[in-house]
Amino acid sequence: MSGAGPFHATLSPAEQRLVEGAQRFATDDLSPITGLDIPTHLDLLRRACHAGLAGIEVPQAMGGAGASFYTRMRVCEELANGHAGFAFSLVNHHNIIARVAQSGHPELQRAMIAPMLAGTRVGCTAMTEPQSGSDFAAMQTRAVRSNGGWVLDGGKAWITNAAFADVFLVYAQTDPDAGAAGIAGFIVLAEDDGFKRSDAYTASGIEGMGVGGFELKDCWIPEERVLYAPGSGFRSAMRGVNQARVHVAAMNASLVEQALNTALEYTTSRRAFNQKIAEFQGIGWSLADVATHLHAMRLLAHSAACTIDAGEDAQVAAAMAKKYANDHAAHAILACMQAMGAQGMTQESGLARLLGWAKAFCYTDGTPEMMNERIIRNMLKRINLKRKDAEM
Ligand SMILES: Cc1cc2nc3c(=O)[nH]c(=O)nc-3n(C[C@H](O)[C@H](O)[C@H](O)COP(=O)(O)OP(=O)(O)OC[C@H]3O[C@@H](n4cnc5c(N)ncnc54)[C@H](O)[C@@H]3O)c2cc1C
Repeated sequence: MSGAGPFHATLSPAEQRLVEGAQRFATDDLSPITGLDIPTHLDLLRRACHAGLAGIEVPQAMGGAGASFYTRMRVCEELANGHAGFAFSLVNHHNIIARVAQSGHPELQRAMIAPMLAGTRVGCTAMTEPQSGSDFAAMQTRAVRSNGGWVLDGGKAWITNAAFADVFLVYAQTDPDAGAAGIAGFIVLAEDDGFKRSDAYTASGIEGMGVGGFELKDCWIPEERVLYAPGSGFRSAMRGVNQARVHVAAMNASLVEQALNTALEYTTSRRAFNQKIAEFQGIGWSLADVATHLHAMRLLAHSAACTIDAGEDAQVAAAMAKKYANDHAAHAILACMQAMGAQGMTQESGLARLLGWAKAFCYTDGTPEMMNERIIRNMLKRINLKRKDAEM
């Protein structure tokens, strides 16, 4: 169970109940060791929806819980104790419901929110393309006005839930000369003419995320499925990514905590040279490092979440939380594996799967290199502003 840290008090009783629901779901329904085929995954998604875990930030008037971002992060953290891939899949689904609730046309809201809250329709966010990931504004997917709606052409890759989703938030370029300002966000449905799902990816570390892609060819969608008009798409996408960085950072902390608990259990039971393994200074200090990084990861993530809920600019806080988690989670899990000797690499120990997810989380919602870019650009901007002020 994740330590809630010093920010625990910011949850209302209803929010606390959601977090406890996530804890129960993780304990009773999920296991980091079991693989998830698509029918099992969809069944779990519906059960999680039934437990209210897909409506965390959706307003109460629309059937959700109207809870804070911090609650979302805590739910992710708890679910990641059960199965980080599933937790990531569920929160991606949740985010589409929250976005439609916040920015969707009333008809879109009527058609989509209830089935998505029930888990009979599953959502995903599609930004990455086969030829562009970090450089989001370089996307090739195009949208052209036609017949009272838009025609989309292009393709997306590496999309969580794409293997089974039927509601896709697709970002497309409406005006290549305008760059980021031309990007808009559209809701595409799997049943739309011109939509074609690609094969899902198989790679270690993406277990339970349903990661896949799709192509769009002459795919016409009506005006009411424009979620973000040209001009607002880029900014909305970045706001979502920024929040995701924080819950991903918190989920990394859960992975490390599980690895640490497993390693502590093992190294305090197993003996060598007449003493417990954990009592060898080399092993004990290595686990002390893991515990310290874990605490720092959690503090950075929780503090960034509070910054988001306070409505303050959280770009740097989110980037730092994710960068720190990405820089340390995989190393920390490897240290735990090492402390357990050969047992650390067995499937039953579960550490290899935790390591896979920690690696996958280095790509989702921006790589550590892009986090560095965000942090340094912000510092340079501030210095330049200061210099300008001094010159005036
Ligand atoms: C498990 C998983 C789930 C995902 N889910 C989604 C999803 O739901 N939706 C979605 O849209 N995408 C998703 N992605 C895609 C993810 O967002 C991209 O992988 C990520 O943005 C990086 O893009 P890329 O893989 O194309 O790498 P590239 O952008 O091609 O980068 C390759 C390398 O170059 C580095 N690099 C690039 N630019 C710079 C720079 N300016 N300075 C320094 N280094 C740089 C990168 O850090 C990286 O190391 C997912 C990916 C994974 C692995």
